[in-house]
Amino acid sequence: MKYYSLNKRSPNTSFREAVIRGIAPDGGLYFPEHIPEFRPGFIKDLGRLSPLEIGMEAMTPFVEGELPGEVLEGILTKVLDFEFPLVNLGGGISSLELFHGPTMAFKDVGARFMALSLGYFYRNSDKEVTVLVATSGDTGGAVAKGFLGVTGVNVVILYPEGKVSDIQERQLTTLGQNIKALRVKGTFDDCQRMVKKAFTDENLSRKIQLTSANSINVARWLPQMLYYLLACHQLPHTGKKLVFSVPSGNFGNICAGMLAQRMGLPVSHFIASTNVNDTVPRYMQTSEYDPHPSTATISNAMDVGDPSNFVRILELYGQDFEELKKHLSSYSFSDKETREAMKSLYRDNGYVADPHGAVGYLGLKKYMQSHPDTEGVFLETAHPVKFLDVVRETLNTEIPLPPQIREVMDKEKVSTPVKGYEELRDFLLS
Ligand SMILES: *Cc1c(COP(=O)(O)O)cnc(C)c1O
Repeated sequence: MKYYSLNKRSPNTSFREAVIRGIAPDGGLYFPEHIPEFRPGFIKDLGRLSPLEIGMEAMTPFVEGELPGEVLEGILTKVLDFEFPLVNLGGGISSLELFHGPTMAFKDVGARFMALSLGYFYRNSDKEVTVLVATSGDTGGAVAKGFLGVTGVNVVILYPEGKVSDIQERQLTTLGQNIKALRVKGTFDDCQRMVKKAFTDENLSRKIQLTSANSINVARWLPQMLYYLLACHQLPHTGKKLVFSVPSGNFGNICAGMLAQRMGLPVSHFIASTNVNDTVPRYMQTSEYDPHPSTATISNAMDVGDPSNFVRILELYGQDFEELKKHLSSYSFSDKETREAMKSLYRDNGYVADPHGAVGYLGLKKYMQSHPDTEGVFLETAHPVKFLDVVRETLNTEIPLPPQIREVMDKEKVSTPVKGYEELRDFLLS
């Protein structure tokens, strides 16, 4: 499989190059040259295949010739070593819990897949690579943990000071070794802008090899399609139309689901659920893409004003708005509505959702009002404990700390302040 740049001004490249570069030299995101199709019978087999077998079949065409079969198998074995349970809440609604991994965020899968791929590509190299990543919350922790101790790889994480939760901050500032955290006085978009600038700084790229671990990296983006396959692997056959509601920020996760649908997964509709950062919901109303600066919310991993992966969704639909509308709806919800949803899920179903999952639930409910005869799955993207303060004050309840979290609670946070791009560049060169 070759990958092309969505800006179409860079040569097509291999999976390896796409992973190492992160973003194409012309600033475009990489996209697979063609979309493979699942073999006939694969969908019918989903229920009886193991998660590893499903992962092998889905991922092989994207990495063929670059990751040998046994290497891919080794990577997927580590990536899929926790559960992805589908919890039935009744009324045709299930929660797909993606938070049982090492940092309790769904980003663990993509981050680990990328770390292990990169580790493989650099296995015999005397060069080093620096992974530069901006995080609005969960990416940082998942990337940090995924890359911890991988030789030949340095990790530098930028995060908006005061805008991530205490647990999230601990997960990215307490690891040490090859992981460095930089705190920025500003928003996630400010962090993202600095990262993008570093990638296009030719002076810098002559001196160090930089790559991105944001969801724009193909090695982070593509494996997320496995969630949708693993949901179908667990779903009983009801004969109803299947819809997924995905709490969305940078739109990498939902885009991977839409890719799986194009490959042959029988999904009838996707719902992109957002908080008040509603660039895509507005786009789906007006067909005009008009990004706004991001606003801070209680679902802060989705506080994204200009979602970077949305161009991939447009590419998947050949920029055909009417066609896209047949497969995607998008709704935005306020913090107040999100808290109400958390309360009703707790009261009526005894289910503790985190604010991101609650936004996903709201989107599903809204869609099902006009499509009652559907099988709805919302993605629960983070463990509620990662948003402890919000969950506590909204539900008036305590949640026990899982071992993955307890581990970071009494470690010292270490981070370096950076003010602007020049300071970031100097840090990277030092
Ligand atoms: C990153 C994140 C999201 C958004 O995922 P995207 O792929 O960026 O749309 C949603 N929920 C949580 C908890 C996250 O960490």
